[in-house]
Amino acid sequence: MIKRRKTKKIQVGKLDIGGDAPISVQSMTKTDTRNVEETIRQIRNLERVGCELVRVALPDKESALAISKIKKRISIPLIADIHFDYRLALLAIDSGADKLRLNPGNIRTKWKVKEVVKAASQRGIPIRVGANSGSLPKSLLSKYKGPTPQAMIEAVMQQIRLLEDMSFSNIVVSLKATDVSTTIESYRRISSKIDYPLHLGVTEAGPPNTGIVRSSIGMGVLLCMGIGDTIRVSLTADPVEEVKTGYRILQSLGLREYGPILISCPTCGRCELNLLQITKQVEKELSKIKSPIKVAVMGCVVNGPGEAREADVGIAGAKGYGLLFRKGKIARKVKEKDLVRALLQEIENIVKR
Ligand code: SF4
Repeated sequence: MIKRRKTKKIQVGKLDIGGDAPISVQSMTKTDTRNVEETIRQIRNLERVGCELVRVALPDKESALAISKIKKRISIPLIADIHFDYRLALLAIDSGADKLRLNPGNIRTKWKVKEVVKAASQRGIPIRVGANSGSLPKSLLSKYKGPTPQAMIEAVMQQIRLLEDMSFSNIVVSLKATDVSTTIESYRRISSKIDYPLHLGVTEAGPPNTGIVRSSIGMGVLLCMGIGDTIRVSLTADPVEEVKTGYRILQSLGLREYGPILISCPTCGRCELNLLQITKQVEKELSKIKSPIKVAVMGCVVNGPGEAREADVGIAGAKGYGLLFRKGKIARKVKEKDLVRALLQEIENIVKR
């Protein structure tokens, strides 16, 4: 059982982050925010797979104005991602942003940061500050000889102090590095220094085949330590994949439920069934189900009965037939050609109940 680190709770629109709130899953659009229709379409796709918070990039005035139109047609809170220009942050707040992601360090002038903080305070909008290994100040890079955890922490602590000096504490913090070990170490250290909620991520993790592994290791280790209150998986892919991966990471650790869990054996020389084919068919059908049912598809009687018994429903293969298990007990023996149908029927019965 993972014991989560205690943090402050902050509110982003209707969503709580930190405290006793479930760890939320967020993503970022990859559209040009000025293209309102395209951005809304992508956000709705994200909503469909359970995204709870979405960030959009606001590089200019037109994109900052676009979020008022976007907000009207989406149902999850929206984070405005702004760099350098404080006027865009003010415009985003006016346009209805639920949270800001900015680095006060790259706004540079203190009074400009103050203006943003004042507007965010008046509207009760939180600000995520954070260090990213790719954009640390040169002074810290030379002081620490690269984007080390110490450099990341110093960068983020400077940002936090700047906001705290302005009596602002509605803060979420991130320390994302491309290097997995640096990410883990940075979050581990900062979590003992501050009690603001932490946004976890391994930045620029890459395309799915490597990015999912890097994100799962980085976030998985931290989540096991009880660290992390909201997560974003960064992939060079459709953001829908980021959300699905985020939930799968949380589900693997028992931190959130996210639809069915399919346990299937890798098969070996003992396999008695065409398990690859069966698993493919079952996986396809399970993708249409939202209930958190556990299904086991196992190739033989070595580990098969044990795993199938632990699942809500499962099969363990034998020569030409399979044993069908329901809630820990053998329900019946089914011929191989009828196995998938029988398994899917059992799944449907359980889901209906
Ligand atoms: Fe091999 Fe049986 Fe284990 Fe599957 S369950 S990997 S077939 S021993």
